[in-house]
Amino acid sequence: MTTPTIELKPSSTPLSAAEREAILANPGFGRHFTDHMVTIKWTEGRGWHDGQLVPYGPLSLDPATNVLHYAQEIFEGLKAYRQPDGTVATFRPDMNAKRFQHSAWRLGMPELPVETFVEACDALVQQDRDWVPAHGGEESLYLRPFMIATEVGLGVKPGNEYLFIVIASPAGAYFSGGVKPVSIWLSEDRVRAVPGGVGDAKTGGNYAASLLAQAEAAAKGCDQVAYLDAVEHKWVEELGGMNLYFVYGNKIVTPTLTGSLLAGVTRDSLLQVARDLGYESEEGRVSIDQWQADTESGALTEVFACGTAAVITPVGTVKRASAEWTQSGGEAGEVTMRLREALLDIQRGKTADQHGWMHKLG
Ligand SMILES: *Cc1c(COP(=O)(O)O)cnc(C)c1O
Repeated sequence: MTTPTIELKPSSTPLSAAEREAILANPGFGRHFTDHMVTIKWTEGRGWHDGQLVPYGPLSLDPATNVLHYAQEIFEGLKAYRQPDGTVATFRPDMNAKRFQHSAWRLGMPELPVETFVEACDALVQQDRDWVPAHGGEESLYLRPFMIATEVGLGVKPGNEYLFIVIASPAGAYFSGGVKPVSIWLSEDRVRAVPGGVGDAKTGGNYAASLLAQAEAAAKGCDQVAYLDAVEHKWVEELGGMNLYFVYGNKIVTPTLTGSLLAGVTRDSLLQVARDLGYESEEGRVSIDQWQADTESGALTEVFACGTAAVITPVGTVKRASAEWTQSGGEAGEVTMRLREALLDIQRGKTADQHGWMHKLG
């Protein structure tokens, strides 16, 4: 397998340091993008080729481009953090690269070699390293690798042309002014993913399909939707873009990867970080009724959601059609916050990287 080297064609008109600093002072999430992007093409017969780092800018696509009609698209999300010595490191990029291959396989797309995925991310972070926020806080540079089907035509088939792109966006602290618990709508009718479907692939279609439920949740005063399994409508799976953890005193439990859940890198990391801190951690099944009953009995002490963007988000209130309750008094729980700090400390280089998770970029 050939690994394309990325040809550097940087912008001659990057933002000035003053303009960049003004953005970094209050970046929000996904609102601003760095000066560059990386693109790599794939064509049948030729494979991956033409890797380039170019100025960030619009794509020009024929209106009949396949992705615009049949949504053959996959994406990833990972972060680069400024380390105490001023260098930059990304968190477990190999995990994202492998998941990207899995998503590609599931959507009938070509699999980008793991080392090429990591090389593309590295090239962009190196070039736009001044966009990585200063060390210390929760701020980071969020990387968004994605791939689209670029063959022109309305025929429905796996295409013979694809485009892989990486863009980067500075991300502020997810919660400005302290970690704020979210409210959850437990959806007992709408589902996110089905057995044999694409729930374990990171594809835009899963998000498009979640927007109506998200709007319905918002109308009920909730921030996020928690989905149940599609067969029994009983087993808790995950949120639209985050995995879930249930805290039972000293033990944390996350729903087992059944094939309709997305295998989060944060989820996987927390199984380990919890053990490192002396908690028990396991994968298991939690039903919607058990969630409610264990909260009422006091056995279930905290609930939190996790994902790259927000790291860990405490769950404060939960609503289902027949009931409503609060978790840990509607406050961020103690175990939740300890795990959050511990994981963030590894990512920003404040504690030792025992598991070799940080990918240093010099
Ligand atoms: C991306 C994503 C997650 C979180 O995965 P991380 O690798 O931890 O960011 C969880 N659920 C869904 C549906 C996702 O798309």
